[in-house]
Amino acid sequence: MIRYDHVAKTYSSVPVIRDVSFDIDEGDLFVLVGPSGSGKTTLLKMFNRLTVPTEGNVYYQGKKIKDYDLQQLRLQTGYVLQDSSLFPNLNLQDNIAIQLEQQGIAKTKRHQRACELLRAVDMDPEKYAQRMPNELSGGEQQRVGIIRALAAKPAVILMDEPFSALDPVVRRQLQDLVLRLQKQTKTTIIFVTHDMHEALRMGTKIAVLKDGVLQQVGTPQEIINQPATKFVKEFFYGHGFQFSLNAVLDGGLGKKVSAASDDLP
Ligand code: ADP
Repeated sequence: MIRYDHVAKTYSSVPVIRDVSFDIDEGDLFVLVGPSGSGKTTLLKMFNRLTVPTEGNVYYQGKKIKDYDLQQLRLQTGYVLQDSSLFPNLNLQDNIAIQLEQQGIAKTKRHQRACELLRAVDMDPEKYAQRMPNELSGGEQQRVGIIRALAAKPAVILMDEPFSALDPVVRRQLQDLVLRLQKQTKTTIIFVTHDMHEALRMGTKIAVLKDGVLQQVGTPQEIINQPATKFVKEFFYGHGFQFSLNAVLDGGLGKKVSAASDDLP
C-alpha cells in the first residue's frame, strides 16, 4: 500500500536520511522508532509532502506521492502531533466537524458525527461538545486530536510522538485507545516514537532508525528475537527492558535474550 523506495534526504548537504526502503501494508500500525534526531519525523513528513525526498520516492497505492494532488492527499491523511493542535477558538464539536466541511457534509450531520466520535472515546457530548480546548487536560486534548484525525475517515493517519507530553497512566490509556480504534477502523497508521516500550506495545511492524540509517524492519517479536544490529539489540535490551517486554509480548523473552547473537554488525 505504501512503499518507501530508496529515499534519502540531505539538508545543506548533510544527510539525515540515507537510502531507506520499506513497505507498509494496509491496516498496519507501522512504528518508526529511534533516538531523537534519527530521522523519524523527516520520513513521516515525506508521506504528506511536508518534506520532499532528495532521492528516491514514496509510493501510495502504486502512485508516487509527488504525483498526487496535494489537497486530495492531505484530505486522505490524518495527522496527529505531540500537541493536539486543536483550533483554540473553536469548541470541541466544531474542532471535529470542521474536518468534514471539505467533504460537503451538511452542518447537522457534521455535528452528529462529532458527537458520535466524542462518545466513542468516552467523552459525553453533553458535557464536552461545547467546551473549548483550553478547558481540557492534555490527555483529553489528545483524545480529541485523535478522533479529529479519524473524523474524515482517512485511509492513513500519521502520528508524530502523539503521547510524549503525557504522564505514563494517560499515555497508556491513549495507546489502548489508538489500538482499539485502529482495530475497529482498520486505518493504516504510521506512528513515530522515540520510546521502545511504546513501539513494542503499539506496532504491528517496527522500523528502527539510527542517524538516518534503517537498522531493521520487523514485527516486535522479530526485532526482539533476532535484532539485526548491535544498535537494535542495545536499544531494545537496555534499561530494564525485559520486564516491560513480558508485559507487552506475553512473556517468552528470557530464553530468547540469551539466544540472540552477540556477533552483530
Ligand atoms: P527525529 O524525528 O528522529 O527526532 P528528525 O527527522 O526531526 O528526527 O530530524 C533528523 C535530522 O534532520 C536532525 O538532525 C535534524 O536536526 C535535521 N533536520 C530536520 N529538519 C531540518 C530542517 N528543516 N533543516 C535542517 N535540518 C533539519
